[in-house]
Amino acid sequence: MTKERFKVTYSTLASPDPKLHQLYDEAVAQAKADFGKNYPLFINGKERFAEKTFEKRSPVNLDWVMGHFQYGAEQDVKDAVAAAKDAFPAWSGRPWQERVAIMRKAADLISDRLFYMSANMSLEIGKNRLEALGDVEETADLIRYNCDAIEKNNNFNFTLLAESDRHHNRSVLKPYGVWVVISPFNFPGALAGGPSGTALVAGNTVVLKPATDTPLTAWFLTECFRDAGVPDGAFNYVTGSGRVVGQALLDHPDVAGITFTGSYDVGMHIIRSFSQGKQPRPAIAEMGGKNPTIISAKADLDKAALGVMRSAFGLQGQKCSACSRVYVHKDVKDEFIGKLLDLTQKINVGDPTDKDNWMGPLANKSAYEDYKKFAAELHENGNVVYGGEVLEEAGNGYYAAPTIVDNLPHDHHLWKHEMFLPIVTVTDFEDLDDAMAKANDVEYGLTAGFFSKDDDEVQWWLDNIQAGVLYVNRESGATTGAWPGYQSFGGWKGSGSTGKAAGSFYYVQQYMHEQSQTIVD
Ligand code: NAP
Ligand code: MG
Repeated sequence: MTKERFKVTYSTLASPDPKLHQLYDEAVAQAKADFGKNYPLFINGKERFAEKTFEKRSPVNLDWVMGHFQYGAEQDVKDAVAAAKDAFPAWSGRPWQERVAIMRKAADLISDRLFYMSANMSLEIGKNRLEALGDVEETADLIRYNCDAIEKNNNFNFTLLAESDRHHNRSVLKPYGVWVVISPFNFPGALAGGPSGTALVAGNTVVLKPATDTPLTAWFLTECFRDAGVPDGAFNYVTGSGRVVGQALLDHPDVAGITFTGSYDVGMHIIRSFSQGKQPRPAIAEMGGKNPTIISAKADLDKAALGVMRSAFGLQGQKCSACSRVYVHKDVKDEFIGKLLDLTQKINVGDPTDKDNWMGPLANKSAYEDYKKFAAELHENGNVVYGGEVLEEAGNGYYAAPTIVDNLPHDHHLWKHEMFLPIVTVTDFEDLDDAMAKANDVEYGLTAGFFSKDDDEVQWWLDNIQAGVLYVNRESGATTGAWPGYQSFGGWKGSGSTGKAAGSFYYVQQYMHEQSQTIVD
């Protein structure tokens, strides 16, 4: 573990310092030396072991057992919620400045442990080194961002209008109570630590249930919160299956609010299930995407090809923001596909801890099986310009080729289904309005990209596209790569439940309810 700090963001990662590579390589060796430990649950400040465990194997090499994790049961959920409930009065009752100081300390510990956490994350879920470093540092930055938001707004304590000089009227925001965080596999740092840190700094107490594919990163976050001085019971970590642990958390009457990030189907189930309680309860659900990029005849095609390649295939297409659909003007389609193909052919797929490999394995067996199934369908119904096959020679893991598909009929269901794989379908259009109609004709509305050098076209696109996160002419990622403070990040339509995004002005407030206080002299 190192004390040396690097300031990492997705944009600065473009040309990293050689020392950064060295520290990461050393951390990979350390992570491998630590394989096979038994990791506990963390409830009320204590480590706990369950009757059953599950093993976490690395998708990079299926022979590698990274660790054994506890298969939490209903009693563990009850104890975790009870601990969080007991810890709530003291934690919420502390001056907000103390919570901000503790959570800033937690963010700094995450940054101090950047290399070890990133190396483990690469092995845990197949992220390449720069993506893993980015995810860990984003976790710290999300927490810092929300600490700053509390501080800048005096913990949202504002004066209201007064009816007379005898009236003293205020609006304050107060935390809800026990907050559950259920996180997905693909950003195991940012989407577990970001919401947990935000709920905590707002004064709630937390029970985190991470994805079964990524318990290790969540354990390292648990250690950071503990070591920063988050008190016993204020933060709890329970691993186990979504169906058991997740569902028991939804059904628990003492849970006051939830942040879920994951698929549309599970998210909609959670929203519905969570509303079965006696009272309405806030449910922040960030769900899937089917993110389009439109490329006009007036686009810079080099930028467009690079932006699409990075967003379609980064993290093996397993970002909620991945570009999975491209609509390109018919006059430039062949040239665009040629450029995209050139870039895609150069991608190395393999062990993502190796500097030369930009793509790692798919996250798990079910993604690998999905890939084979969809590839067969696409070979049959479209023109597979590149890829469409698994790569057994790339290693003993779930490796698959980046895939470009042309001429898939417009009514094919894979134009609308979130495959969550390194597969992009491309089609041409004659009329921009027609492309817009198709781009918007999905359940989702998370991110979207546009390439054009024409200002009027750009404004038209911004005015009409239905998504929460928009990028124009962005070669570093046509639809991916938001960073807290630089982009707000949240979905419209089936991609998000609240209409408010993370990493911007309206996020931490969602973890609190408003109270007005009128005092008359
Ligand atoms: P997922 O399968 O929906 O799982 C997400 C979490 O929900 C996991 O912790 C899972 O636990 C848990 N879960 C499953 N069933 C549950 C139930 N019945 N009750 C309570 N919890 C339950 O999603 P994923 O495969 O991990 O992640 C990929 C998806 O996340 C994609 O759709 C992607 O677009 C979306 N995503 C969205 C955003 C965004 O910001 N909008 C960001 C990242 C990812 P188990 O792992 O134990 O099943
Ligand atoms: Mg899943």
